[in-house]
Amino acid sequence: MRPVDRLDIENSYSTYKSYLKSLIESFGQFCSYCERPDKMDVEHVVPKSKEAGLEVEWTNLLLGCSRCNRDFKKDKNDRREGYLWPDTDNTFHAFTYEETGRVFANPELDNAARQAAENLKVLVKLDDGLEVQKTLNLGRRAEFRRANLIKDQFANGYIDIEGIMIMLDRVSYWSVWMTVFADVPEVKACLLDSDCFPNTATHYFKEEG
Ligand SMILES: [Zn+2]
Repeated sequence: MRPVDRLDIENSYSTYKSYLKSLIESFGQFCSYCERPDKMDVEHVVPKSKEAGLEVEWTNLLLGCSRCNRDFKKDKNDRREGYLWPDTDNTFHAFTYEETGRVFANPELDNAARQAAENLKVLVKLDDGLEVQKTLNLGRRAEFRRANLIKDQFANGYIDIEGIMIMLDRVSYWSVWMTVFADVPEVKACLLDSDCFPNTATHYFKEEG
């Protein structure tokens, strides 16, 4: 799950739907949880019903596809605590993405962080379990195949970095590409480039070079 930096914005609106444009400009048109480029809702991290003002509080807003936002997360969490979030935590390190399309909480995390990662995974159903025919796991599995193919082509000189940059416009699962290209610094740099994916929290990736 791509971690993002939240920049301050100057606008403040009286209805939360007015923030959609600012959110898309800030984070790109990708679901903050599943990373698919879909039709986006303004997603409230803490449900807007929990406290007055949360509805239009910029720091409480992310982007959610209808699957993550409406079908699964809904208003099931009372608070931020107990979960990891892409605007405050390193949610890439928090999960391991496997070629089968499955996602697991990173076993390297300490117990509290692993539980918080697991809680977020369950909250938005980031992993479809063994129902591999379901949307997310199957989509990620296909994206692994595509990214691995491009990786081979890049290694053999059939595609250059400009070609990959153009292709990144259509990447649905940023974390899959980050996993596949973990050992290819030139491509990783593109995935962290704000022109392709706005405001990724790149400070988490600095020491990895
Ligand atoms: Zn989603």
